[in-house]
Amino acid sequence: MLKIGLTGGIGAGKSTVAGIFKVLGVPVFDADATAKNILNTDLVLREQVIAAFGSETYKNGLLDKKYLATLVFNSPDQLAKLNALVHPATIAAMEKWASGFTDRPYIIKEAALLFEAGTNEGLDYIIGVSAPQELRIARVMQRDQVSREEVISRMQHQLDDTEKMNRCNFVIDNNEATLVIPQVLSLHEQFIS
Ligand code: ATP
Repeated sequence: MLKIGLTGGIGAGKSTVAGIFKVLGVPVFDADATAKNILNTDLVLREQVIAAFGSETYKNGLLDKKYLATLVFNSPDQLAKLNALVHPATIAAMEKWASGFTDRPYIIKEAALLFEAGTNEGLDYIIGVSAPQELRIARVMQRDQVSREEVISRMQHQLDDTEKMNRCNFVIDNNEATLVIPQVLSLHEQFIS
């Protein structure tokens, strides 16, 4: 069973592409959703987060995402500290999840921050989803009903898109000029053969 990463900048279309793989019957692991979920459900991790960032990080037993974000947003050190706690737990969750699919030719791990978080290790290939910056900004403004400045600020916390795509083994162009489904089908054919 191959383990394939699927990444790309904010608004590039990772979830959209992941949805096409799912339609083809490919198991897809959502690393970002799992990381958020684990912070609320893994009691050992919760204790570690409280020890590192203070008891205010949880309110009524649930993670106060906004508060935690304010602590790590502009501090690479604090962000690295949080990642060092969350990523091993997310990788363990993915390994456990993947063990249920060993009879499949491949599974996909979708993650916005794959290279940034160092969680590209252990993956056989990585697919990047690429789209021009202006299109990504417009998509996220519309999807999340946020300002242009808000999207740009989120983008600044991610690796430069060109650098990210250079590090991928395959790139899917989601620029709305090139058809996406044939690109996904072509990769699917390669991974199952
Ligand atoms: P994030 O990192 O923010 O989660 P993402 O990379 O997963 O983003 P998507 O959520 O898949 O991106 O796409 C962003 C928005 O753009 C969504 O509203 C999606 O429906 C839309 N979108 C993506 N690809 C296309 C396309 N080819 N044509 C039209 N709309 C698209």
